[in-house]
Amino acid sequence: MARVVIVGAGQAGRRCAEALRDLDPEAEIVLLGEEPHPPYDRPPLSKAVLLGADPGNGLFVRAPEFYAARRIALRTGARVAAIEPAAGRVVTEAGERIGYDALVLATGARARRLAVPGAEDPRVLTLRTLDDAAALRARLLARPRVAVVGGGLIGLEVAAAACRLGCAVTVLEAAERLMARCVPPAVSDLVAALHRARGVTLHLGQALRAIEPRPGGLVLDAGAVRVEAELVVAGIGGVPNTTLAEAAGLAVRDGILTDAQGRSSAEGIYAAGEVARFPHPFLGRAARLESWQVAQNQPAAVARALCGEAAPYDEIPWLWTDQFDWNLQVLGDPDPAFELVRRPAGEGRATFLALDAGGRVRGAVLLNNGREATPCRRLIAAGKAVDRARLADPEVPLRQLA
Ligand SMILES: Cc1cc2nc3c(=O)[nH]c(=O)nc-3n(C[C@H](O)[C@H](O)[C@H](O)COP(=O)(O)OP(=O)(O)OC[C@H]3O[C@@H](n4cnc5c(N)ncnc54)[C@H](O)[C@@H]3O)c2cc1C
Repeated sequence: MARVVIVGAGQAGRRCAEALRDLDPEAEIVLLGEEPHPPYDRPPLSKAVLLGADPGNGLFVRAPEFYAARRIALRTGARVAAIEPAAGRVVTEAGERIGYDALVLATGARARRLAVPGAEDPRVLTLRTLDDAAALRARLLARPRVAVVGGGLIGLEVAAAACRLGCAVTVLEAAERLMARCVPPAVSDLVAALHRARGVTLHLGQALRAIEPRPGGLVLDAGAVRVEAELVVAGIGGVPNTTLAEAAGLAVRDGILTDAQGRSSAEGIYAAGEVARFPHPFLGRAARLESWQVAQNQPAAVARALCGEAAPYDEIPWLWTDQFDWNLQVLGDPDPAFELVRRPAGEGRATFLALDAGGRVRGAVLLNNGREATPCRRLIAAGKAVDRARLADPEVPLRQLA
């Protein structure tokens, strides 16, 4: 492959560049990112970065000299404004035209904005980038009353961090339970109990209608509930950055549509990471997954496609969240419709296993119990019916059941 241009210098863009260099010592690799920073991983933003703790090498992952050493032409502050597929080139916002033999779109997503009256107030923030995290931390240090809109993974991590920094925190969630997109109801209840025990006020089943300015603060109107705050953080999900792809005529549906190795509908153009919607072998449907795992490993499958290797992305989905001193890991597909088996693991720990109608383990949630992640992954991969009583018995090692 002669010249590969990668648009988006986030985790997926970096991983694609690295994997491509491993496979092809000759390729010219250009990595263009609009942010002023070199590639970084986002999970620490809502955890260590907000708390002012050292994220270690979990943030930038690679030293600045890594890119030149691996002959990856990284250009930060370089926003791509258009793709010209017929000419095989991209155009940056500064007007520079850069030709490609293959193009990878790793443009990720942006934070979804609230669409209610008053949401444009400067005291309403979102969290997606390192700069967002720095701005949010600076505000949290003044210990405002914080209202978090959205009880998903990022909203709850922000709520936990704000609470730990001494803020009074209220979470407004439109659904009847927390983290409804990724964990079963029994786990949502435990997470709610954790937050309440640490002093977070939760209002579930309350959809925000408006944000009203008041002298010195804001009032969030959710109909039955009104919440006073000095700072609002919206954690209501992400919107894939598909504008470039759409303008270039690529097939897009809440993400750039690709095959299992990232090939888009346009010859020579690929999509990697969170922006891609691809046929997921385990889920058995097309999915766009917002997780570190996909940003880390799906781009390597794209690199293989660029080098003519047929080896699709195929992993059991995995994500984690850290809230207060809890670690939750979600594996596979713990669909709320599945039967849930609880496997106790001692004080404050448990594994929840989701069984389909055939008694096969399809998903798992590990509460402070990451040590069972590997046997759970094996059980899910095995895809055979398991004995419920033995599954629930902590004396029976999971590896005996796989
Ligand atoms: C705060 C936060 C916490 C998270 N925590 C966890 C967690 O605990 N566990 C977990 O599993 N997952 C977590 N995730 C999810 C996971 O990290 C993301 O899904 C991952 O960052 C996706 O990587 P990406 O490279 O595909 O996209 P992004 O990280 O969005 O990177 C895309 C990059 O492309 C750039 N870009 C976009 N358009 C252009 C353009 N036109 N020109 C140039 N550059 C462009 C963007 O500025 C951005 O830098 C978290 C995400 C966030 C935001």
